[in-house]
Amino acid sequence: MAITNQYVKDLDREYVFHSWSTQGTLNPLVIAGGEGSTVWDYDGKRYLDFSSQLINTNLGHQHPAVIAAIQEQAGALTTIAPATANLMRGEAAKRIIEQAPAGFKKVFFTNGGADANENAIRMARLFTGRDKVLSSYRSYHGNTGSAIVATGDPRRVPNEYARGHVHFFTPYLYRSEFNAQTEAEETERALRHLRRVIECEGANSIAAILLESLPGTAGVLVTPAAYMQGVRQLASEFGIMLILDEVMAGFGRTGKWFAFEHYGVVPDLITFAKGVNSGYVPVGGVVISEQLSTYFDTHFFPGGLTYSGHPLAMASIVASIDTMRAERVVENAHEIGEKQLGPRLRELQQRHPAIGEVRGVGAFWALEFVSDKATRAPLAAQTMLALKNRLMERGLLPFVVENRIHVAPPCIITAEEVEAGIAILDEVIGCVLS
Ligand code: PLP
Repeated sequence: MAITNQYVKDLDREYVFHSWSTQGTLNPLVIAGGEGSTVWDYDGKRYLDFSSQLINTNLGHQHPAVIAAIQEQAGALTTIAPATANLMRGEAAKRIIEQAPAGFKKVFFTNGGADANENAIRMARLFTGRDKVLSSYRSYHGNTGSAIVATGDPRRVPNEYARGHVHFFTPYLYRSEFNAQTEAEETERALRHLRRVIECEGANSIAAILLESLPGTAGVLVTPAAYMQGVRQLASEFGIMLILDEVMAGFGRTGKWFAFEHYGVVPDLITFAKGVNSGYVPVGGVVISEQLSTYFDTHFFPGGLTYSGHPLAMASIVASIDTMRAERVVENAHEIGEKQLGPRLRELQQRHPAIGEVRGVGAFWALEFVSDKATRAPLAAQTMLALKNRLMERGLLPFVVENRIHVAPPCIITAEEVEAGIAILDEVIGCVLS
C-alpha cells in the first residue's frame, strides 16, 4: 500500500494524543522525511524548515554522520542500565565538559530539557539547603513538576502543583516593564527589581535563580550582557546558585557553543537538550560546576532515570559534537546571522511597517508584528494565523508564537537557503498585510 498524507493524518487523529492542544480541533502537518534544512510530505510537497522543528535540529535533518553513529551503536548495544560505565556515555560527557567553561566537571544525563531543569533545581536545593527558585515571567523551562512552575509563560498557570517558585521580570526593552527608554535604563531597573525580589523573599530562602541564557519561546529576547553580569553578581552576593537553561539557545544556536558566552558570565549549573544531538534521540542533561560536583562526591544524590545516558543518545551526542566541530557549524550560525539573516530581516522591517522589531543573534531571530508601530499593539491572532498558513503554502515552515515569527533554521543553513526563505517571507508578508 502506498502511504498517503491522508492515511497518516487519519491514523494520527484516530489514535494520537498531542501536546498543548484541545484534541478535537487538531489538523497536524504530515511529514514523511527530511534532509538538511528541508522536510517533505508523502505527496512530495517540500518545506524549507525555518523552525528547526522545535528549534532543535541544529545539524539539520538526517545528518549522515549522526545517523551512522546511531546505527553503529544500535548494532553494538541498544540499552544499558545507568549505573554501568559505558564507553559512549563517557565520551559524550567528556565532549560536553570540553565545550563548557573551565571548572565544569561532570554531566548528569536526562531524557530531555524539562527533567534537566528539574534535576538542576534539585541539585541547587540540596547543595544550598534552601527551597525557593526565582525565574522569569518571560520563560519556558519544560513540562514537568518544578520546570513548568518555574516557567513564566501562561502554560504554568494550570500546572502550579510545585512549591517554592517565585517569578520576576527580566529585560525586554521593546515592551519594558520598567518604563525604560534605553538598554542601560532597562538593565539597571531590572537588576534593581531583582535585588528587591531577593530581599523581599529572603535571600537565605533562595536556592537558585533559573534563567534561559537567551529566552527563546518568550520571544528570542537577546539579553543585555550587563544584565546577566549583574544577575551573576547578585547570585554570588547572596549564595544563590545560578542555573542557566541552554536547552534552546545552546549548542550553536546563537553562534556560540553556549549562549552565556555572549555575556562573559559563568553559571553554577548548565542545562541542555535539543541542539546537543539535534534531537535525533531524546536526551538532555545538567553540566555541573566543580563546587557542586565536589559536594556530591560526599553527599548522596537522591535522583535518577532508567534512561540516564542511554547509549543511542550518547552515540548521537558524540557524533553531533564531533560533526559540529569538524564542519564548523557553530561558526556558520554566527556568520549567517551576522552577514545575512540579521541584515536581510532588518531589510524586511524597512519594507513592512507591521514588523515592529527584529532581534536575534546567530541562527536565532524573531520578527515581532504589530498593528500599530506607535502603540506597539500586537498584530491580531487571526492575521498571524493567515501569515503562517500562507508561508506553509509557499513551502516555508515558520515558528509562530503569539505575534511573532521566530526565524530559527538549522545552524547548517546555506546562504542560498536563507535567500530563498527571506524571499518567501517578503512575498507573504507583503501579500497578507497589504
Ligand atoms: N528549556 C527551554 C529553554 C526550552 O525551550 C524547552 C523546550 O522547548 C525546555 C526547557 C524543555 O525541554 P523538553 O521539551 O526537552 O523537556
